[in-house]
Amino acid sequence: MVTAVGRAAPDGRRVAPPDGRRVAQPDGRRVAPPQATRIETQTHVETQTHVETQTQPRIETQPPAPRPPEHVARPVPTDPAARRAWEVAATVTDPEIPVLTIEDLGVLRSVEVDDDGAVHVQLTPTYSGCPALDAMRDDVTIALTHAGYADVDVSLVLAPAWTTDWMSDEGKQKLREYGIQAPSGHAPARSSGPVRVQLAVKCPRCDSLNTRELARFGSTSCKALYECRDCLEPFDYFKVL
Ligand SMILES: [Zn+2]
Repeated sequence: MVTAVGRAAPDGRRVAPPDGRRVAQPDGRRVAPPQATRIETQTHVETQTHVETQTQPRIETQPPAPRPPEHVARPVPTDPAARRAWEVAATVTDPEIPVLTIEDLGVLRSVEVDDDGAVHVQLTPTYSGCPALDAMRDDVTIALTHAGYADVDVSLVLAPAWTTDWMSDEGKQKLREYGIQAPSGHAPARSSGPVRVQLAVKCPRCDSLNTRELARFGSTSCKALYECRDCLEPFDYFKVL
């Protein structure tokens, strides 16, 4: 559209100039600037908004921000007394997968020893309602008591939720040797919703990708039951959580 500044339209109104100024109409109303000028104004506003919010992480262009300390898979304490207690607690294994320690799993979240010598342990269950958790909790108390700690307190931390990303590479290797396929890939960003793409699950025995899911829930809720079409063996798959 061609617009001349202040040019009178055939109906007697005046067309607004493209520079954003408004033109007084004969009836006293003002005409908004043409569309192209509006877009330019909007772009300017967006730029301003961006400047105000640029401290927010922009996933598509910036490297991932370092995870906060509570997301560290195995936050082994640096304090020597706490570290000794951690090493005792870390010997406790998952009652359902006895080859994995709670340290391998990333279930052991923190160990502190206070001035009175009391040990405070925090565990995060692999999923809410995990029946193995009570056993792990008892086993941590027993292990520390046997190691000479008289006062042991084990509490549960539910947030941030446990993720298979916390499982150590060594733990994943032990899982495969035990005949359970370890979770493959990483858990999705928690804010992105429940959509999850399941890639082919490799057979832990023959490495074939020609496998199929027999049951969404295997021997425990964190595992699915798979079957290998090549070696025909069923196996558990530790799902990505
Ligand atoms: Zn196989």
